[in-house]
Amino acid sequence: MNPYISIVIPVYNEEGNLANLFDRLYPVMQAMGKPFEIILTDDGSRDRSLEILKGMVTKYPEVRVVEFNGNFGQHMAIMAAFEVSRGEIVVTLDADLQNPPEEIPKLVAEVEKGHDVVGSIRQKRQDTFFRKTASLMVNIVTRKMTGMKMSDYGCMLRAYHRNVVNNINRCQEASTFIPALAQTFAASPSEVEVAHAERLEGESKYSLYKLVRLNFDLMTGFSVVPLQLFALLGILTSLFSVAFALFLLVRRFIVGAEVEGVFTLFAILFFFIGITIFGIGIVGEYVGRIYQEVRRRPRYVVRKVHGGDDVR
Ligand code: UDP
Ligand code: MG
Repeated sequence: MNPYISIVIPVYNEEGNLANLFDRLYPVMQAMGKPFEIILTDDGSRDRSLEILKGMVTKYPEVRVVEFNGNFGQHMAIMAAFEVSRGEIVVTLDADLQNPPEEIPKLVAEVEKGHDVVGSIRQKRQDTFFRKTASLMVNIVTRKMTGMKMSDYGCMLRAYHRNVVNNINRCQEASTFIPALAQTFAASPSEVEVAHAERLEGESKYSLYKLVRLNFDLMTGFSVVPLQLFALLGILTSLFSVAFALFLLVRRFIVGAEVEGVFTLFAILFFFIGITIFGIGIVGEYVGRIYQEVRRRPRYVVRKVHGGDDVR
């Protein structure tokens, strides 16, 4: 029989968190009294995470582990788990217990009310000031650029109906951002507030560089507004320079040729060169992703799926 709820958890070097995660997740799932499965993707951990997870597979019949061949990133780890998931309702969760498992019933109830994508808003978010400010900016910019109404893009404690997961599984894109992807398929999205805790053990797996890359995935994957803005900026700049040239022409007849203010001119020039390089960079982000897509290389490599009646 298929499970009713699938819990999906990406794991990358989380050896210190897994025991606690199971201790808190299991009672919650059992109390719900519905058949469930827990799918964890080991995203190429270099610590003892995989060993611990394999131990869990033998101990708990509901646990299955997707073993990756290397580190393919959080969103690919979730994608791979989605592909083997069977539940009517699929809930994603982080392994570091920043998302309290106790909130899962709330999300499931919301799906049962008829919402096919249930997002979450982190109340009293427990992250560094820098992360919170960066998220705030990303949330505003993304909302504007993609036109998607989502309050908190970064929170991974989310629930999806099987139909949405099936649609996500049909997407073979090499770089993606799951909450945004799900939102594009949502017929009746909803959001609930959830508690948020500090990371229990270890440290964040996102360096500043990885965060920036992730946000480019989000921007380029769901909007072409950055490109359009550059086209508009280009038009405005050329209109402005035509006006400026006309002004200089008139000035030449009235006052004569101008010589001073050369460095001002440099400053203005550097400013525009800076914008141009930035623009080329943005185009590069899109071209790079198009290149990834046309190569059609596997997005991730699964070494083995442990546990359960292997559906692969
Ligand atoms: N994660 C992953 N692969 C990665 C980076 C992270 O599977 O390359 C997992 C990680 O183990 C955790 C979740 O994604 O379960 C969120 O990561 P993290 O807590 O480091 O992110 P933050 O909370 O700092 O945004
Ligand atoms: Mg975390």
